[in-house]
Amino acid sequence: MRFDVVSLFPEMFAPLTDNGVNARARHKQIWNLHCWNPRSYTHDVHRTVDDRPYGGGPGMVMLAEPLDAAVDEAIAARQAQQLDCPVILMSPTGQRFDQPLAQSWAQTDGAIIICGRYEGIDQRFIDARVTHEVSLGDFVLSGGEIAALAMMDSIIRLLPGVLNDKQSAISDSFHEGLDGLLDSPHYTRPEIYKDQPIPDVLKSGNHKNIARWRREQSLRLTALRRPELIEQARAKGLLTPHDELFLLDLLASHTP
Ligand code: SAH
Repeated sequence: MRFDVVSLFPEMFAPLTDNGVNARARHKQIWNLHCWNPRSYTHDVHRTVDDRPYGGGPGMVMLAEPLDAAVDEAIAARQAQQLDCPVILMSPTGQRFDQPLAQSWAQTDGAIIICGRYEGIDQRFIDARVTHEVSLGDFVLSGGEIAALAMMDSIIRLLPGVLNDKQSAISDSFHEGLDGLLDSPHYTRPEIYKDQPIPDVLKSGNHKNIARWRREQSLRLTALRRPELIEQARAKGLLTPHDELFLLDLLASHTP
């Protein structure tokens, strides 16, 4: 997988390329990152990448031309490796990024990712070049870099060979391995920490009971915090009769 990031701040991507499981996976050539700085594609002495908005108003808008040139180069480099060239714009007005989207991008060659700055980007560049608009959530960042980092990290950790334990990605919150529910709590040593023991079942060695307990913890947490995810799992037929009984009991214990 290869990402081509178009950003005025390429140095912001070092945390992804140089740390932890992502760095190891990059050294194993599971994925790679190339940065393209629109400032390198300016022709004036000030290397201008933005200008004031037509119609007035606060802030500055990124110029289409340096972005266009950066995308052209990124496409040429990807095509030379026979890679697809989807162009993702990080934008609060885009489709909300989530785990199913991470899973579907993990099946691809990667993408060109545009990071906006200032008030945003000239709409004509977006209309002509962008194939997907993706938002990290309903809040506004000062640039697309942090959103792109988060998105790429969540995609990369799904690639085969990135995490040590194959099971760990599929047993995470929102993943289809967990039927889209929230993850259950985790405990490690010591067995008693500040007078708090771990749940007995986790010491039982009975894998069936442990799996059941984890499932019930997932159901409980999801029902309390994200009831819409329970509905989605139910609509897909992913809840067992045992799950439904557990949820009924849970509801009864919360109804006065
Ligand atoms: N005026 C814009 C916000 C611009 S913020 C608006 O109100 O919609 C500057 C840049 O930060 C954006 O171009 C985008 O690339 C990035 N950005 C900000 N919030 C984001 C979010 N929630 N998800 C993804 N990118 C975001």
